[in-house]
Amino acid sequence: MKRPSGKGRVWRRGEAGFDTAVLATSFNARDPGVRPEMQVEANDAAEVGRALQVARENRWQVSIVSGGHSWAQNHLRDGGLLLSMARFNHIAIDPAARIAQVGPGCWGLDLDRALKKHDLFFPIAHAPDVALGGFLLQGGFGWGSRELGLATESVIGIDLMLADGREVHASASENPDLFWAARGSGPDFFAVVLRYHLKLHPRPRATAMQMQVFRQEHLDAVFRWADAVGSSVPRSVELQLLITPRALGIFRPGIEVIAPVLAPTWAEAREAVRFIADSPIRKLASFTTPLIPMRTSFMSQVANITHFPPDVRWCTDNIWTDAPIDDLLPGLHAIAETMPPAPSHSLWLNWQPPAQPRPDMAFSLEAKRYLAVYGEWTRDEDNHRYAGWATERMAAMQAHSVGIQLADENLGKRPARFMKDANLARLDSVRQTYDPGGLFRLWMGRPDR
Ligand SMILES: Cc1cc2nc3c(=O)[nH]c(=O)nc-3n(C[C@H](O)[C@H](O)[C@H](O)COP(=O)(O)OP(=O)(O)OC[C@H]3O[C@@H](n4cnc5c(N)ncnc54)[C@H](O)[C@@H]3O)c2cc1C
Repeated sequence: MKRPSGKGRVWRRGEAGFDTAVLATSFNARDPGVRPEMQVEANDAAEVGRALQVARENRWQVSIVSGGHSWAQNHLRDGGLLLSMARFNHIAIDPAARIAQVGPGCWGLDLDRALKKHDLFFPIAHAPDVALGGFLLQGGFGWGSRELGLATESVIGIDLMLADGREVHASASENPDLFWAARGSGPDFFAVVLRYHLKLHPRPRATAMQMQVFRQEHLDAVFRWADAVGSSVPRSVELQLLITPRALGIFRPGIEVIAPVLAPTWAEAREAVRFIADSPIRKLASFTTPLIPMRTSFMSQVANITHFPPDVRWCTDNIWTDAPIDDLLPGLHAIAETMPPAPSHSLWLNWQPPAQPRPDMAFSLEAKRYLAVYGEWTRDEDNHRYAGWATERMAAMQAHSVGIQLADENLGKRPARFMKDANLARLDSVRQTYDPGGLFRLWMGRPDR
């Protein structure tokens, strides 16, 4: 993605440059073929207010984009008004109070760079250009989130514009129902986020990564091992298993075991990843790297080159699962055997929710393990071959799923449970209070009103 340049403007359907401007809002290069009537690139809150007024006058529904990293392109709908918040990318840090005010269009990487100067940290997403807008609304599995909590748990306040144009602040003590709804509703949220107020954390002193690569024939052994060690992996380690047709270093189908660690000291970092060196399957590995000191921002930028290149088409889907590994292995083999070409991949994340319950918020669904699939292709001619792959693979494993995570949602193609039923009912009721006329779009896959 590119950062927005110049002053934002209003685009009308049919005018020269309109299609390019609309498609440029999306990380996923797929053209879904639908277009809004108008795209407003807002520069300030007054322009957001005017855009909502135009939408109300024209009886248009509004969809919102900040960083455009919704794989499903949730903001691209037919008709209505598309509001881009990408230019709301300001960052103001109060290092003494350890808080920041940040616009929804701000990239994670930019926030991280600004915080580094103050030796502070926030659990931003794993790709540098994911913006805080959608990331924090859907929950946010960020760097260090297994220890620090979902990124949205570090949101302490939100400045919002409601459907009627009123600006309000939401926090635990002010408009708590809006605050509850904003933390986990993702594409189902029903107001415009103008600004987040964030709680900041001390910057981890030791950030590093260890990696082990296996040939695909060892898939059963690798996943059985990961499943067995899962609950004992220190919370400072994000154990990820990536199935890929071209594994790093061996350039053939394989499994990349990636263990980033964020710890207060190097001794703790080394101790935290000891389970990899001690692993009973280590001799099956094609290679094991040492623990390599590496900034999280560098890890993100490398991952963007190796796994998330720009200007390509994507299909994604996911499940949260607590199912026994024997039930999951057939699905994992099917993923490996049918995967579109590299850099398509799947992610097995050793999530393991914390023992303490999370705060009461819309986000309410998770499981011990997270499995997501990312299909990638470069040419429109291949849409028919690959576009349904992620949906098919996750539909086949649906029986083992407790629901999905909104981060990698595919609701337009495969609607699935993304929060507890009681929370979804409460969310609908809060929406009815603040957006009774249905100005803001519902999540893709749920019928529009
Ligand atoms: C390469 C890549 C890596 C990713 N890595 C991670 C990761 O490590 N962890 C993780 O949790 N997720 C990750 N994601 C998922 C990502 O966090 C979500 O797609 C998130 O919604 C992206 O935020 P965005 O603002 O960039 O996207 P957008 O597409 O702009 O927003 C997604 C949706 O959020 C809503 N929205 C956005 N901005 C606003 C606003 N200002 N006001 C109201 N509603 C708004 C809209 O409904 C919009 O359709 C990744 C995605 C990609 C493509």
